[in-house]
Amino acid sequence: MNHGAPAIALVLVLLASTTLDAAAQPSQPPGQAPATQPTQPPVLCPVTGKPIDRLCVARFRGKWVYFAAADAQKKFEADPYEYADGVQAQWLADKPLRVQVKCPVTGDLPNPEIYVGQGEDAVFFASDEARQKWQADRAPFEKRLEADCYTFQTQCVTCGGAIAPAASRQADDRTVYFCCDGCAAEFPKNKNEYLKQADAQVRANKTAWLTRLLEQKLGAPATKDADAKPR
Ligand SMILES: [Zn+2]
Repeated sequence: MNHGAPAIALVLVLLASTTLDAAAQPSQPPGQAPATQPTQPPVLCPVTGKPIDRLCVARFRGKWVYFAAADAQKKFEADPYEYADGVQAQWLADKPLRVQVKCPVTGDLPNPEIYVGQGEDAVFFASDEARQKWQADRAPFEKRLEADCYTFQTQCVTCGGAIAPAASRQADDRTVYFCCDGCAAEFPKNKNEYLKQADAQVRANKTAWLTRLLEQKLGAPATKDADAKPR
Protein backbone atom coordinates (compact mmCIF):
# COMPACT_ATOMS: atom_id res chain seq x y z
CA MET A 1 0.00 0.00 0.00
CA ASN A 2 1.02 3.58 -0.42
CA HIS A 3 0.71 5.23 2.99
CA GLY A 4 3.32 3.44 5.06
CA ALA A 5 4.12 3.44 8.74
CA PRO A 6 2.45 6.67 9.92
CA ALA A 7 -0.88 5.38 8.59
CA ILE A 8 -0.48 2.12 10.50
CA ALA A 9 0.25 4.01 13.70
CA LEU A 10 -2.85 6.13 13.16
CA VAL A 11 -4.97 3.04 12.56
CA LEU A 12 -3.72 1.42 15.73
CA VAL A 13 -4.51 4.52 17.78
CA LEU A 14 -8.00 4.83 16.28
CA LEU A 15 -8.66 1.12 16.62
CA ALA A 16 -7.70 1.23 20.28
CA SER A 17 -10.18 4.05 20.82
CA THR A 18 -13.03 2.14 19.15
CA THR A 19 -12.37 -1.20 20.80
CA LEU A 20 -13.32 0.50 24.04
CA ASP A 21 -16.76 1.14 22.52
CA ALA A 22 -16.82 -2.33 20.99
CA ALA A 23 -16.13 -3.97 24.34
CA ALA A 24 -19.75 -3.33 25.28
CA GLN A 25 -20.95 -5.23 22.18
CA PRO A 26 -21.45 -9.04 22.09
CA SER A 27 -18.26 -10.66 20.82
CA GLN A 28 -17.78 -12.90 17.79
CA PRO A 29 -18.64 -16.58 18.43
CA PRO A 30 -15.44 -18.66 18.66
CA GLY A 31 -14.29 -20.46 15.52
CA GLN A 32 -16.12 -18.10 13.20
CA ALA A 33 -14.29 -15.86 10.76
CA PRO A 34 -14.82 -12.17 11.46
CA ALA A 35 -17.09 -10.56 8.87
CA THR A 36 -16.70 -6.84 8.25
CA GLN A 37 -20.34 -6.34 7.20
CA PRO A 38 -22.27 -9.40 8.34
CA THR A 39 -25.74 -8.17 7.38
CA GLN A 40 -24.93 -7.22 3.79
CA PRO A 41 -24.87 -9.20 0.54
CA PRO A 42 -21.39 -9.64 -1.00
CA VAL A 43 -20.04 -6.87 -3.20
CA LEU A 44 -19.43 -8.41 -6.61
CA CYS A 45 -17.67 -7.45 -9.83
CA PRO A 46 -20.26 -6.29 -12.42
CA VAL A 47 -18.30 -7.95 -15.23
CA THR A 48 -17.35 -11.35 -13.78
CA GLY A 49 -19.66 -11.71 -10.78
CA LYS A 50 -16.64 -12.53 -8.58
CA PRO A 51 -15.59 -10.78 -5.36
CA ILE A 52 -13.98 -7.39 -5.93
CA ASP A 53 -10.43 -6.18 -5.57
CA ARG A 54 -10.67 -2.56 -4.37
CA LEU A 55 -7.52 -1.64 -6.25
CA CYS A 56 -9.36 -2.32 -9.54
CA VAL A 57 -11.63 0.67 -9.77
CA ALA A 58 -13.23 2.99 -12.34
CA ARG A 59 -15.31 6.15 -12.12
CA PHE A 60 -18.83 5.91 -13.54
CA ARG A 61 -21.66 8.43 -13.18
CA GLY A 62 -19.92 10.21 -10.33
CA LYS A 63 -19.30 7.05 -8.27
CA TRP A 64 -16.67 4.33 -7.99
CA VAL A 65 -17.17 0.88 -9.47
CA TYR A 66 -14.94 -1.98 -8.30
CA PHE A 67 -13.85 -5.07 -10.24
CA ALA A 68 -12.47 -8.53 -9.60
CA ALA A 69 -9.38 -7.93 -11.74
CA ALA A 70 -7.75 -5.50 -14.17
CA ASP A 71 -9.04 -7.30 -17.26
CA ALA A 72 -12.62 -7.01 -15.99
CA GLN A 73 -12.05 -3.29 -15.45
CA LYS A 74 -10.79 -2.90 -19.05
CA LYS A 75 -13.85 -4.72 -20.39
CA PHE A 76 -16.09 -2.41 -18.40
CA GLU A 77 -14.33 0.74 -19.55
CA ALA A 78 -14.72 -0.33 -23.17
CA ASP A 79 -18.52 -0.59 -22.81
CA PRO A 80 -19.76 0.48 -19.35
CA TYR A 81 -23.48 0.44 -20.16
CA GLU A 82 -23.29 -3.25 -21.01
CA TYR A 83 -22.79 -3.87 -17.26
CA ALA A 84 -25.29 -1.35 -15.87
CA ASP A 85 -27.32 -3.96 -13.97
CA GLY A 86 -24.24 -5.35 -12.26
CA VAL A 87 -23.11 -1.83 -11.37
CA GLN A 88 -26.48 -1.05 -9.78
CA ALA A 89 -26.33 -4.28 -7.79
CA GLN A 90 -22.83 -3.44 -6.58
CA TRP A 91 -23.84 0.05 -5.50
CA LEU A 92 -26.79 -1.33 -3.58
CA ALA A 93 -24.63 -3.92 -1.83
CA ASP A 94 -21.61 -1.70 -1.23
CA LYS A 95 -22.67 0.55 1.62
CA PRO A 96 -19.68 2.79 2.36
CA LEU A 97 -18.19 2.62 5.85
CA ARG A 98 -17.35 6.31 5.83
CA VAL A 99 -18.12 9.36 3.70
CA GLN A 100 -16.00 12.46 3.23
CA VAL A 101 -18.10 15.47 4.21
CA LYS A 102 -15.50 18.25 4.30
CA CYS A 103 -12.66 19.50 2.12
CA PRO A 104 -9.38 19.00 4.02
CA VAL A 105 -8.01 22.32 2.72
CA THR A 106 -10.96 24.70 3.18
CA GLY A 107 -13.30 22.80 5.53
CA ASP A 108 -16.18 23.41 3.09
CA LEU A 109 -18.39 20.82 1.40
CA PRO A 110 -16.40 18.69 -1.05
CA ASN A 111 -17.24 18.77 -4.76
CA PRO A 112 -17.71 15.20 -6.10
CA GLU A 113 -16.06 16.16 -9.40
CA ILE A 114 -12.87 17.59 -7.85
CA TYR A 115 -10.63 14.90 -6.40
CA VAL A 116 -7.28 13.14 -6.44
CA GLY A 117 -6.73 9.39 -6.13
CA GLN A 118 -9.17 6.56 -6.72
CA GLY A 119 -11.72 4.47 -4.87
CA GLU A 120 -11.33 4.53 -1.12
CA ASP A 121 -8.04 6.44 -1.45
CA ALA A 122 -9.75 9.33 -3.25
CA VAL A 123 -9.78 12.71 -1.55
CA PHE A 124 -12.36 15.32 -2.59
CA PHE A 125 -11.98 19.11 -2.50
CA ALA A 126 -14.22 22.14 -2.42
CA SER A 127 -12.47 23.81 -5.34
CA ASP A 128 -9.70 23.45 -7.90
CA GLU A 129 -7.64 25.88 -5.87
CA ALA A 130 -7.93 23.65 -2.79
CA ARG A 131 -6.93 20.61 -4.84
CA GLN A 132 -3.88 22.48 -6.16
CA LYS A 133 -2.83 23.41 -2.62
CA TRP A 134 -3.11 19.76 -1.58
CA GLN A 135 -1.11 18.62 -4.60
CA ALA A 136 1.61 21.19 -3.92
CA ASP A 137 2.00 20.10 -0.28
CA ARG A 138 -0.55 17.85 1.34
CA ALA A 139 1.26 17.47 4.65
CA PRO A 140 -0.48 20.40 6.42
CA PHE A 141 -3.91 19.01 5.50
CA GLU A 142 -3.52 15.26 5.97
CA LYS A 143 -4.13 15.25 9.69
CA ARG A 144 -7.26 17.35 9.31
CA LEU A 145 -8.55 15.00 6.62
CA GLU A 146 -8.42 11.94 8.86
CA ALA A 147 -9.47 13.69 12.05
CA ASP A 148 -12.20 16.01 10.85
CA CYS A 149 -13.40 15.37 7.29
CA TYR A 150 -15.16 11.99 7.40
CA THR A 151 -18.34 10.72 8.97
CA PHE A 152 -18.89 7.06 9.77
CA GLN A 153 -22.63 7.71 9.72
CA THR A 154 -23.21 6.83 6.07
CA GLN A 155 -26.94 6.15 5.88
CA CYS A 156 -29.75 8.63 6.46
CA VAL A 157 -31.17 7.95 9.93
CA THR A 158 -34.66 8.75 8.71
CA CYS A 159 -34.95 6.60 5.55
CA GLY A 160 -31.74 4.53 5.24
CA GLY A 161 -30.64 6.12 1.94
CA ALA A 162 -27.09 7.30 1.27
CA ILE A 163 -26.28 10.50 3.13
CA ALA A 164 -25.74 13.84 1.39
CA PRO A 165 -22.94 15.83 3.08
CA ALA A 166 -24.98 19.03 2.70
CA ALA A 167 -28.03 17.62 4.55
CA SER A 168 -26.97 17.72 8.18
CA ARG A 169 -28.15 18.94 11.57
CA GLN A 170 -26.23 19.74 14.71
CA ALA A 171 -27.38 17.84 17.79
CA ASP A 172 -25.69 18.00 21.17
CA ASP A 173 -21.98 17.58 20.40
CA ARG A 174 -22.31 15.96 16.99
CA THR A 175 -23.45 16.30 13.40
CA VAL A 176 -26.18 13.98 12.15
CA TYR A 177 -26.51 13.36 8.40
CA PHE A 178 -29.53 12.78 6.17
CA CYS A 179 -30.11 12.02 2.50
CA CYS A 180 -32.00 15.26 1.89
CA ASP A 181 -33.51 18.28 3.62
CA GLY A 182 -36.89 16.56 3.73
CA CYS A 183 -35.49 13.79 5.90
CA ALA A 184 -33.55 16.30 7.99
CA ALA A 185 -36.84 18.04 8.74
CA GLU A 186 -38.09 14.81 10.37
CA PHE A 187 -35.23 14.86 12.84
CA PRO A 188 -36.76 16.99 15.64
CA LYS A 189 -39.84 14.73 15.77
CA ASN A 190 -37.91 11.76 17.09
CA LYS A 191 -34.53 13.18 17.95
CA ASN A 192 -33.39 10.71 20.59
CA GLU A 193 -34.18 7.65 18.47
CA TYR A 194 -32.39 9.10 15.43
CA LEU A 195 -29.38 10.04 17.51
CA LYS A 196 -29.20 6.49 18.82
CA GLN A 197 -29.29 5.13 15.26
CA ALA A 198 -26.59 7.55 14.16
CA ASP A 199 -24.33 6.57 17.05
CA ALA A 200 -24.81 2.86 16.35
CA GLN A 201 -23.82 3.37 12.70
CA VAL A 202 -20.73 5.31 13.69
CA ARG A 203 -19.64 2.62 16.12
CA ALA A 204 -20.16 -0.30 13.72
CA ASN A 205 -18.72 1.40 10.63
CA LYS A 206 -15.69 2.82 12.40
CA THR A 207 -14.74 -0.56 13.81
CA ALA A 208 -15.28 -2.28 10.45
CA TRP A 209 -13.32 0.41 8.60
CA LEU A 210 -10.33 0.32 10.89
CA THR A 211 -10.30 -3.47 10.94
CA ARG A 212 -10.32 -3.58 7.15
CA LEU A 213 -7.63 -0.92 6.91
CA LEU A 214 -5.45 -2.84 9.31
CA GLU A 215 -5.93 -6.05 7.31
CA GLN A 216 -4.92 -4.20 4.15
CA LYS A 217 -1.83 -2.64 5.72
CA LEU A 218 -0.70 -5.89 7.26
CA GLY A 219 -1.61 -7.86 4.12
CA ALA A 220 -3.65 -10.38 6.12
CA PRO A 221 -6.64 -11.64 4.09
CA ALA A 222 -8.63 -12.44 7.22
CA THR A 223 -11.95 -12.72 5.40
CA LYS A 224 -10.72 -15.25 2.82
CA ASP A 225 -12.38 -18.65 3.04
CA ALA A 226 -9.83 -21.47 3.24
CA ASP A 227 -11.88 -23.49 0.73
CA ALA A 228 -12.17 -20.68 -1.77
CA LYS A 229 -9.82 -21.57 -4.58
CA PRO A 230 -9.76 -19.49 -7.74
CA ARG A 231 -11.53 -21.43 -10.53
ZN1 LIG B 1 -33.49 10.08 4.02
